[in-house]
Amino acid sequence: MGRKRERAAGETGGAAGKTAWAAFEAFLAGGRARATRARRRVCLHVAGRRDHFRADDAAADLARGPERVSRGTVYRTLARLVEAGLLREIPAPDCTRYETIAGRPPHEHLLCEGCGRVVEAACGDLPGAVERMCAAQGFRARVYALRITGTCRQCAEKRR
Ligand SMILES: [Zn+2]
Ligand SMILES: [Zn+2]
Repeated sequence: MGRKRERAAGETGGAAGKTAWAAFEAFLAGGRARATRARRRVCLHVAGRRDHFRADDAAADLARGPERVSRGTVYRTLARLVEAGLLREIPAPDCTRYETIAGRPPHEHLLCEGCGRVVEAACGDLPGAVERMCAAQGFRARVYALRITGTCRQCAEKRR
């Protein structure tokens, strides 16, 4: 793969970006919203991210270049991506974070109130257990969010 193609893949989010945009375009069309260039740029940008980012992080990255996207558009588009089921919202103590759902194994987030760290953790078949719990009630879950806040290992060690 040449350097030019690599750079192009970064800008379009690669295969993940293509899939994400197809899904988001369908979601926008369903809500009679326009699939604008700015929305496409935000969608491709987040599809390529692998971190727990703040809306401000995405806004800062998208404020550069000739196709810059305004902060307001970034914030509104992130909210729509969450509604579309493409982006996960993590209510961290300091500031809400986001992460791309596609291609990630199921995991939870342990949120440190001391340093703002977001620790990823998985434990057995927790999503499966939640699914079975809902099914037993005949309940069809749409949003699944487990909020665990406290003190991370590093902060706990500092305090001792
Ligand atoms: Zn901490
Ligand atoms: Zn995560």
